[in-house]
Amino acid sequence: MHTFVGYIFARVWCKAPENDYSIDLFSGLTSLHSIIEQLDREDKAGVDKGAGAFFYRHVNEIFIEFKSLSSDEIENFRRLFLNNNNIKALCEGTLLPFRYETASTTPLQTKIKSFFSELYRSGFFNLKIVKDKIGADLHDHYKAFAKANAMPCCPFCGLQPMDTEYDATREAYDHYLPSSIYPFNSVNFRNLTPACHKCNSQYKGAKDPLLSADGIKRRAFYPYSLHQYNIQISLQFLNNGQSPTEPKHIRVDLACPGYEEEIATWDSIYKIRQRFIAKCCSPAVNKAWMNRILIECRNYDRSPEQAMEAELLACLESPWIEASFLKAAYLREAEKAGLISSILQT
Ligand SMILES: [Zn+2]
Repeated sequence: MHTFVGYIFARVWCKAPENDYSIDLFSGLTSLHSIIEQLDREDKAGVDKGAGAFFYRHVNEIFIEFKSLSSDEIENFRRLFLNNNNIKALCEGTLLPFRYETASTTPLQTKIKSFFSELYRSGFFNLKIVKDKIGADLHDHYKAFAKANAMPCCPFCGLQPMDTEYDATREAYDHYLPSSIYPFNSVNFRNLTPACHKCNSQYKGAKDPLLSADGIKRRAFYPYSLHQYNIQISLQFLNNGQSPTEPKHIRVDLACPGYEEEIATWDSIYKIRQRFIAKCCSPAVNKAWMNRILIECRNYDRSPEQAMEAELLACLESPWIEASFLKAAYLREAEKAGLISSILQT
């Protein structure tokens, strides 16, 4: 999808001052050229009012606006386009992003916003001719993502299950840098991240990972990083050594040495600590975790310490199954509070 946008930006819009509009401008990308050829025919016949017309109309209107730009202005747009598509550098804070709100509202900027903020959901990439020419769709991308990621849960919270590559349905994609705030990257897969419904729609929404609610610049984890962030979770029971039964009875700390700002951003957007606390407080969850130790002791004649060691090992081997990473943190604190050693007396 982004290949089309990159081509149109660099080879059509940025070349506008030196060219008249013609579908020949798209001939450097055969698949796009065929699509534009069909959209052009439909436009002339006045038959397409939907996603194809949305795409065709915006490509043309933005071309017309680019025609009157100076070479310096075009160079500036090139830089902004490249910067906004370097999602990794933006998350790491080594490049400054370009936001709609920082731009004055010229007709060109209004058209750019109208195009890029709606492009993903416009349905253009679901048109048969587009899917046929691209040779894949979002479902294919999701399948490949699920297979490569090999996690049964949401990569942002670790709590909610996610569709696998074998499911007929798929999770929604989140615009990590929201399409309502950032131009040019709304169909870039580096900015499209599968996430659970809670993370995507209920917690993050259109929050800006690179700017706090107070308008302070901040770094954020880059979702497609190949680097494994070593995030440590520790709990503290505040209920005089008893199992927590309310959120006020438990404290959660998140740490990732060298990534303190990213941790704070992650927690601020997805309310991670609050959600971990909610899970740990639920008797339906924490009793099941503690029962694992009890069952190991009773069925296999193990001491609580031996059962605990076996359970922690199992959590370490499969941390993403049923929030085992959180179960391990809970059991470690339960051990510290003396709840494990006394488990056979309960
Ligand atoms: Zn999630």
